[in-house]
Amino acid sequence: MGRKLNISHYVLKTRVLGPFVRSALWVSGCCFNCKGCLAKEMNARAPSEADADGLAEIFAQADGTEGITISGGEPFLQADALCEMIGEIREARDYGVIAYTGFTIEELEGRNDAGTKRLLDSVDILIDGRYEAGLDDGKPYRGSSNQRILCLTERYADSYEEYYLKHGSRDMEIVIGRDFTYMVGVPSKAGLKAWEDLKRRRRRDV
Ligand code: SF4
Repeated sequence: MGRKLNISHYVLKTRVLGPFVRSALWVSGCCFNCKGCLAKEMNARAPSEADADGLAEIFAQADGTEGITISGGEPFLQADALCEMIGEIREARDYGVIAYTGFTIEELEGRNDAGTKRLLDSVDILIDGRYEAGLDDGKPYRGSSNQRILCLTERYADSYEEYYLKHGSRDMEIVIGRDFTYMVGVPSKAGLKAWEDLKRRRRRDV
């Protein structure tokens, strides 16, 4: 029996959370309480419980994707289960991993925890640090300037630079399903306003 993950949701394809076409997973729950956190509402909702191996099967079959971006919530609170999921995907195919975390890499390296170490070893790009609203400079892929985009392996050493230069602004996607509406990406201020307006309209429609 595989490990369980508390998740909010996932999408099978996005172009706004790193190089190439990627899947994206939002885990649920965070130990931080950053002022201005965009995931507050999501973290307050009851999580869905998912089997790590079941998720691995879904992502391993996501045609046309090069890897996955894991966000949240705080992925490193569920390091063991995420390692299991990543390990099983990589048994099936070569898959890149980008992870967002509220911890700094120094804090993660200082944790005496095997799961944390294994997850760090599995990640190709880590975007680290708490969101600081006062340091939000509108640059893409991270919320505030204290957060760093760290290439931990060679996998994206070239493609990331190219991707960053090509998509130099904050891009977002809206995914609308029958019962859900998801915003994907790190939104600009205008994008965030459009997203809030859309959510209000959808609530009125229901
Ligand atoms: S670390 Fe991320 S998810 Fe957690 S409170 Fe801060 S911004 Fe929100």
